[in-house]
Amino acid sequence: MEKICVAVRVRPAAVSSEPLNGTFWRVEDNRISLHKVHGTPISGLSYAFDHVFDESCTNARVYELLTKDIIHAAVEGFNGTAFAYGQTSSGKTFTMNGSETDPGIIHRAVKDIFTKIQMISDREFLVRVSYMEIYNEEINDLFAVENQKLQIHESLERGIFVAGLREEIVINAEQVFKLIESGEVNRHFGETNMNVRSSRSHTIFRMVIESKGKDTNSSGDYSSTDAIRVSVLNLVDLAGSERIAKTGADGVRLKEGKYINKSLMVLGNVINKLSEGAKQRSHIPYRDSKLTRILQPALGGNAKTSIICTLAPEEVHIEETKGTLQFASRAK
Ligand code: ADP
Ligand code: MG
Repeated sequence: MEKICVAVRVRPAAVSSEPLNGTFWRVEDNRISLHKVHGTPISGLSYAFDHVFDESCTNARVYELLTKDIIHAAVEGFNGTAFAYGQTSSGKTFTMNGSETDPGIIHRAVKDIFTKIQMISDREFLVRVSYMEIYNEEINDLFAVENQKLQIHESLERGIFVAGLREEIVINAEQVFKLIESGEVNRHFGETNMNVRSSRSHTIFRMVIESKGKDTNSSGDYSSTDAIRVSVLNLVDLAGSERIAKTGADGVRLKEGKYINKSLMVLGNVINKLSEGAKQRSHIPYRDSKLTRILQPALGGNAKTSIICTLAPEEVHIEETKGTLQFASRAK
């Protein structure tokens, strides 16, 4: 079992924010701690992770340190998953999708994969992409609006799969970016008190990379001795982790909050079991949520997993930030 790589990223503070009770989060190397404004750390609130990225860190650096290895391994045939976890407005989508000047993990991964593939001359590749959201425990296809409430099936041949999900065969990065752009339009947005257009769904961008050795003999046939390699790469932008009460909303929002929190809780349990190591891993509750069920084949085993937990530095968010740091600590 590969160790899950856990990182924390603090986004820049909103310009208008000022300390309320005089505390702030300090980042030093791979540690983040809550401090009183005039120096002293507050005991019990110091956490270490594989990486802690401060507000000046770019997506380029996050990709380099946290995700690049997963992407390269995916080209070699290993499954992988990269998650962004955190409360609404803490920087999950900024990390996954990026900005015009600093593209996010998804963009960089797609580019990197096609660059890698071109460098490997002795194998033939087939790349397929799909894009889905899980909203109130319902799976919707972001590449095809008509594909709603899709079901998870399992077969000997295909393993666990989402029935009816559109998969597009792609041959270059530009093609993938166009598809994602069209998919973005279909994402569910809800309005809450916390953030005018906060994302209330999990989204999974998936690439399936298949490869087969090219035959070196003169006939040009595929060599039958070389097995086909298939790897699945999931890049996951999770729904906001904030507690329901804070969204302070009507029944619909409460229902959303309940589902989101449940699947994030199950994800936490699954990841916690995985990180405990082989002995304790007899009962991993993948089946307790759609999210973990879909990701099951790409979690555990020799799959590579990273989690980036995004934090809002403002003092008003301190309780949510502690919650996110606890989630991150459990994943280590
Ligand atoms: P989330 O997806 O977690 O709800 P967003 O990614 O939408 O949060 O981030 C909220 C706001 O903060 C956005 O305007 C985004 O551009 C900005 N932001 C987030 N992280 C960073 C960062 N590391 N550097 C600069 N701006 C950021
Ligand atoms: Mg978002």
